[in-house]
Amino acid sequence: MTKYAVGFGSNLGNRLEHIQAAVSKMSGFGEVVATSSLYESAPVGGPEQDPYLNAVVVLQTDLIAEDLLGALQSIESERGRERRARWGPRTLDLDILVSEGPTIDTPDLSIPHSASGERRFVLEPLVEVWPEVIVSGGMTATGALATVGGQDVELLAVKWAQRGDRHAGRYWVAGQLIWFLATGVAMAFDGSLPGNDPDPSRLIGGLLILIGSVLAYTSMRRLGPGRTVLPEPIPGGFLVETGSYSHVRHPMYGGVSLLLTGTALVLDSIAGVVLGIGLFGFFWLKSGYEERQLRIAYPGYAAYRRRVPRRFIPFVL
Ligand code: ADP
Ligand code: MG
Repeated sequence: MTKYAVGFGSNLGNRLEHIQAAVSKMSGFGEVVATSSLYESAPVGGPEQDPYLNAVVVLQTDLIAEDLLGALQSIESERGRERRARWGPRTLDLDILVSEGPTIDTPDLSIPHSASGERRFVLEPLVEVWPEVIVSGGMTATGALATVGGQDVELLAVKWAQRGDRHAGRYWVAGQLIWFLATGVAMAFDGSLPGNDPDPSRLIGGLLILIGSVLAYTSMRRLGPGRTVLPEPIPGGFLVETGSYSHVRHPMYGGVSLLLTGTALVLDSIAGVVLGIGLFGFFWLKSGYEERQLRIAYPGYAAYRRRVPRRFIPFVL
């Protein structure tokens, strides 16, 4: 058995999915004995590209280094890795950073990896899982980390390696259904149908229903197959940034909240209006949870959030 540290990098597609899939594939030929936190780093060198998701694991395996490299490269290919531009964007990059075994320096394989002692995005996670290991340049990982400059590396998540924990998502969806139901019941008890001479609040309600329907309908159309009720990205999903999503980040939540609040106004239901406005608050929290997931998965999400600052209603909220 030999201990290796393997570094992950991804900045194309669902980055988290690529890295999680690699961890689970690696369990097929070794044992993953330590997993670092997940970091986001600005690209170093190469063409203009999105930020990377990075992590390091310690793998214990019977494979010799050359065979491990082959196994890692086939995982890269399975995740759709294409080698076009050098240092260009990639779905998944798997590098053998360091090992307990002998130093290797052949045209196809260098261990320690040449970047292992120089890059903060390698050293930050490496120090978490194997601080005393000797990296390129001859220092320990801890020592080398102290010498690298202020490269842009941000901690995103501590626990991430397990896939498919959808419980939190289900609770959010259940809470949402209860909220809808409560609003409906409130309007049924508390509301009344408009007469021949509707007052201004009812007219405003009608306007909100109109805006809400347009927002909800256009965003539903735009989302298409990437659609899910759960507040986590689905496997194979992608980020939608066009149509209503170019004006607000959560047009569906905005649309539905406007629809319910508008209906409560039309029905003159005070309790309904309170619950309808409260729904914006509920969705604020739910979308916060959702955006943390999207931020980790999609390389362009942080930039999208800066570009589209409103969450629910164009120009307003
Ligand atoms: P990058 O240098 O950005 O990781 P690639 O992943 O395309 O670029 O790797 C280019 C080559 O680096 C691979 O074909 C591989 O033979 C070689 N290589 C040398 N040492 C290592 C190592 N320790 N781990 C992974 N690849 C390595
Ligand atoms: Mg590589």
